[in-house]
Amino acid sequence: MSTSAAAAAAEGPHGYIQGACLCGRVKATLRRPVPGEMKLCHCTDCRKFTGAMWGAHPLPCVVAHDLSAAYILTMPEGDLTLEGEFKSFFSGGDSGQSVGRHFCGNCGSSLYDTGDDSPGWVFVHSGLFPPKSIPPPNLEIYWCNAESWEVVHPGCKTVDRQ
Ligand SMILES: [Zn+2]
Ligand SMILES: [Zn+2]
Repeated sequence: MSTSAAAAAAEGPHGYIQGACLCGRVKATLRRPVPGEMKLCHCTDCRKFTGAMWGAHPLPCVVAHDLSAAYILTMPEGDLTLEGEFKSFFSGGDSGQSVGRHFCGNCGSSLYDTGDDSPGWVFVHSGLFPPKSIPPPNLEIYWCNAESWEVVHPGCKTVDRQ
């Protein structure tokens, strides 16, 4: 198989990309994001949840399923499908609305976020997906929290909040 054919096969059918958590128990399939659908969030909660200086979210994606189910979440017709056992933690966001942080119940990898102020949308964590599969970001939010040594990614607009 040629390199490009192998890459196409790894993407899965219909322009989807496939990923997994660190332990491999949660499998993720995402409609291939395109430029303009990727943002970086420097909010303090994303820092804590990801353990990195920012959370990197493609989309948000529209999903048509109840995200409160705690086991085997499959969204065959949505932009994101997750299969596996995961846990959720809810905290108050800036707006006072609840924000859900969803992670692998075994290894703790961050999977996706949800918010009461964005019903029907999911903010998936792009680190689940293979290197070279995610388009460049076009927006960095909560830039006010960036470290002094951080630089704006090329082509990104920054805002100090959402
Ligand atoms: Zn895991
Ligand atoms: Zn954030």
